Amino acid sequence: MENIKAKTSLVSAEELQKQKEYAAKVKSVLSVRYNSAPKACVVTFGCQQNVSDSEKIKGMLCDMGYSLTDETTDAKLIIFNTCAVREHAEDRVFGNVGALKKYKLENDGVVIGLCGCMMQQEHIAQRIKNSFPFVDLVFGTHVVHRLPELLLKTLTRKKRVFEIPDMDGVIAEGIPVVRDDERRAWLPIMYGCNNFCSYCIVPYVRGRERSRSLESVVEEAKDLISKGYREITLLGQNVNSYGKDLEPKINFSYLLRILNSLEGDFRIRFMTSHPKDCTKELLETMAECEKVAKHLHLPFQSGNNRVLRAMNRGYTREKYLELIDYARSLMGSELSITSDIIVGFPGETYEEFKDTLSLVSKINATSLFTFIYSPRVGTPAAKLDDPIPKSEKSKWFKELTDLQETISASQMKLHNGKIFKCFVYGKGKLGDNYIAARTDGNLIIEFEGDESLIGTFQKIKVIEPLTFVLRGEIVKEKE
Ligand code: SF4
Repeated sequence: MENIKAKTSLVSAEELQKQKEYAAKVKSVLSVRYNSAPKACVVTFGCQQNVSDSEKIKGMLCDMGYSLTDETTDAKLIIFNTCAVREHAEDRVFGNVGALKKYKLENDGVVIGLCGCMMQQEHIAQRIKNSFPFVDLVFGTHVVHRLPELLLKTLTRKKRVFEIPDMDGVIAEGIPVVRDDERRAWLPIMYGCNNFCSYCIVPYVRGRERSRSLESVVEEAKDLISKGYREITLLGQNVNSYGKDLEPKINFSYLLRILNSLEGDFRIRFMTSHPKDCTKELLETMAECEKVAKHLHLPFQSGNNRVLRAMNRGYTREKYLELIDYARSLMGSELSITSDIIVGFPGETYEEFKDTLSLVSKINATSLFTFIYSPRVGTPAAKLDDPIPKSEKSKWFKELTDLQETISASQMKLHNGKIFKCFVYGKGKLGDNYIAARTDGNLIIEFEGDESLIGTFQKIKVIEPLTFVLRGEIVKEKE
């Protein structure tokens, strides 16, 4: 069993100051080499935590004198922020990195950097070292805040830089951020995970759970609200553990209530919750706080108790159903539930998989994120016998997605005629004059309207439920 230590190690003010000085040095190196700001492209793979990390990387790069581009073929610096959760994601990264070789050879002075969860794994870093000699910089998840120092080394020495310390993790406050969206923001409240689910690589690559201080989270939320952000999504591998390592201890419900009490017209979301740590208090808090979206992403992974034990999930099917029933009793049809499921965990039988199907039939989720099990090097599950062939798992997977499609469609029909308060977030896909909005429960409604409504909350009536999206019309307030 892993030795779990609760650690909150804040990066010191002196260290952050040093990084600022490195950033200034990078800036002066770039100003000698280029007549105008060179372009940097940050490509993000994987989850919202990575998206949030990339926003910090972009913030630091702008501080160092880069301008940003979305095109790798336009950039003097390319950074891939990678994901290790599934083999498929890793293969995509290797493919994309390989494709950069020609560009690098044909363009003088291009720097290629790799970071994120994939790089935190020893065998991956070795493979990059040996097989991708054109990659200049590789850094792990615990040293993102040291990018100025690492980039300066890369630019000024004729050596490749690999910096991947194995540690419990740190918290770096005050890193500049360039956000991808002007109205919706990611707000990390904690990092790392202590759960060691037997299939998951996250605790090995993201370190131990560590919460940001209440003050830092609230200050960042206030800043976002004052800048006009309307949707704030609190991030953490297991947000339900928030505050356990703080002194004095607080919990996630407490944080939600404080954020809910802040002035302004905004909505709070959060992800991801772990059923083991999801309390009745949290569900009651969700129900009572008007600014907290009635959307619960609560991954159950399997509906069979033996498989759940083998996954080291720490709850049973019965406990999960109890939570869902309680949440529904508090929030009724307003509540939208989403979940993650793994199909074909090593040793899972078809009979056991049928328990997953029956759980899916009971919870009436709005949507599910379903995956076929992918072995991760170094995790306990990767050492288990896995006799079921991929072709068989694919059939189970199809059975599951077919079932959920039917459930989602019937859920969508229930919304016909309902009026939702929605956040209008961007252009729609149903037609040129459609714009898209998101309900509290994370459903997407598209309606014909003016782009000037983007960034506002509107009341929208559903007039036609489609398969994955609702068609609606704006409800005009009476004069
Ligand atoms: S709770 Fe489990 S699945 Fe989620 S990040 Fe932690 S170890 Fe991975």
